[in-house]
Amino acid sequence: MAAAAAPTVPEIVLPSATGQRKMPVMGLGTAPEATSKVTTKDAVLEAIKQGYRHFDAAAAYGVEQSVGEAIAEALKLGLISSRDELFVTSKLWVTDNHPQLIVPALQKSLKTLQLEYLDLILIHWPITTKPGEVKYPIDVSDIVEFDMKGVWTSLEESQKLGLTKAIGVSNFSIKKLEKLLSFATIPPVVNQVEVNLGWQQEKLRAFCKEKGIIVTAFSPLRKGASRGANLVMDNDILKELADAHGKTIAQICLRWLYEQGLSFVVKSYDKERMNQNLQIFDWSLTEDDYRKISEIHQERLIKGPTKPLLDDLWDEE
Ligand code: NAP
Repeated sequence: MAAAAAPTVPEIVLPSATGQRKMPVMGLGTAPEATSKVTTKDAVLEAIKQGYRHFDAAAAYGVEQSVGEAIAEALKLGLISSRDELFVTSKLWVTDNHPQLIVPALQKSLKTLQLEYLDLILIHWPITTKPGEVKYPIDVSDIVEFDMKGVWTSLEESQKLGLTKAIGVSNFSIKKLEKLLSFATIPPVVNQVEVNLGWQQEKLRAFCKEKGIIVTAFSPLRKGASRGANLVMDNDILKELADAHGKTIAQICLRWLYEQGLSFVVKSYDKERMNQNLQIFDWSLTEDDYRKISEIHQERLIKGPTKPLLDDLWDEE
């Protein structure tokens, strides 16, 4: 079957970015999966061909070099005429959550990506460990105090230096956002957190909306190698909705996020699923769908990056 034509992905204006930056609501996730047969470089290049313009990377994913190579190739092939047509996010790992390490870490990411600026840099987790190599899961014995104010001031400095157009956070609770907003001179533009039909995060989303912080949903399908039974992709209610609309469960999941006014990063390295995920902008869910959706069991999938898990990471929210 021929792939459907790529739609233009709608954009959201980033309130506290340098200049009038717009972020396409849908981005391609790049968190590595050991089972993937397609390389990140090939996936990003294919995504650009299909019309994706927003890419979600992170220093800890080890993909910055491949993402950069794909962008360079896309420019060479004339798939895009300028890097400015893309929205590239990266994230600082917990080893770099030290005020004096922020600017060098960003410079390192930019060098690896072969870019002059990022569109958005996020604090990946509100945790700091001793500087050094990336370990996942994080060993709790490596954790030191997270100097939120010092780290944020350095991020503000990096935006002023032009290393990034916007700054934000990831995995921040309401309590941590309140603390950050109490001293930030540039407020965070994005909080990237898990949001999907099995973890709808209504309270956090309402808080972010009130404060003008864009929520970017990660793990929108809750899927991925070794994640086992899936509250959304294996859900009978969603199967019924998908059949009624002539769509896939993944498309129902993504359409719901879009209708919530969120941005979201979905990872597919498969050409057809990449295209399928883009086909969500010209139809709607019904009131009856929403009634059924409200019955889905709620449970956080990503409970934390440490081993053992931290008791106070989510501030009991
Ligand atoms: P996800 O996007 O919810 O799911 C990805 C999985 O779903 C992949 O195995 C993919 O396989 C499959 N898939 C994609 N589209 C599909 C479709 N239409 N039908 C069936 N299967 C489909 O999960 P995620 O990778 O955890 O999250 C997405 C991105 O969010 C990450 O890549 C990363 O960029 C970001 N993230 C951020 C954090 C954070 O702490 N800030 C945490 C987790 C994730 P194929 O590739 O084979 O299609």
